[in-house]
Amino acid sequence: MLGYGERTTNTSFTAVDDLTAPGAIGSGRDAFARAGITPADVDVLQVYDSFTITAALQRRGPGLLRTRRGARLHRRRHDPARGALPLNTSGGGLSYCHPGQFGILLLVEAVRQPRGEAGDRQVAGARTAVAHGTGGILSTHATVVLGVDRRLARSSSGRRRHRPVVGDATREHRLTVQTCTQCDHVQHPPRAMCTGCSSMEHLVLRDTSGDGVVDASTVVHRAPRPDVEVPYTVARVRLAEGPIVLTRLTGGNDWAIGDAVTVDWLDLPDGRALPVFSRG
Ligand SMILES: [Zn+2]
Repeated sequence: MLGYGERTTNTSFTAVDDLTAPGAIGSGRDAFARAGITPADVDVLQVYDSFTITAALQRRGPGLLRTRRGARLHRRRHDPARGALPLNTSGGGLSYCHPGQFGILLLVEAVRQPRGEAGDRQVAGARTAVAHGTGGILSTHATVVLGVDRRLARSSSGRRRHRPVVGDATREHRLTVQTCTQCDHVQHPPRAMCTGCSSMEHLVLRDTSGDGVVDASTVVHRAPRPDVEVPYTVARVRLAEGPIVLTRLTGGNDWAIGDAVTVDWLDLPDGRALPVFSRG
């Protein structure tokens, strides 16, 4: 989440001072200021469309209609001939579904697009999404800017910071956890920030011993896909270094909490390997 803004302007709709000036204007302004971007940087927009007029009013929040220049930009970006700003890519409340609290579905779509997980609806190259919702009868407005944070993704020199990936180490059958060189905290899965001291500059991946103990386990009897053999055991394993990993246990399905285990590897077709655990 890059930025967020919220406004409550009225309770009764009949008492609204100016029907053409929704709270979206203030919530949008705050969200963009906090994100440090402008409406021109937005790749995909999700707005609450309970009615046609709702969607039109809320687009004032992202600032697209606030000025004449903004209105021109808005028309240009919604003109298919010039390349439209993709709007409500899930289909929206009017044509897809409106279960009553549609806002959460706007957020789901706004997260999927920058992640590149939207399938057939994917907007090519989408890195920044805005979701805007309302509550009551246009009483409360909330705008959220989501995306790949360009400021965090680049180092001060302007070059992309190297982020080691756990999957890369598995090619060499090394199981790694993230360690903070400032406070010695160990965490998994990797995060942008140390949860021990909040540092974003001291995180490295370190090899583990591969040893651990079963923290909890369950036997799965129903295959998620036809090609998966059942039964199999899914477990939380507490590594000797401290963090918990979610994994599979191999070598039978009769496991108890506290059983000693050690890492084993299933090689994947792409060269990486999947860490599983067997009796230590
Ligand atoms: Zn730390």
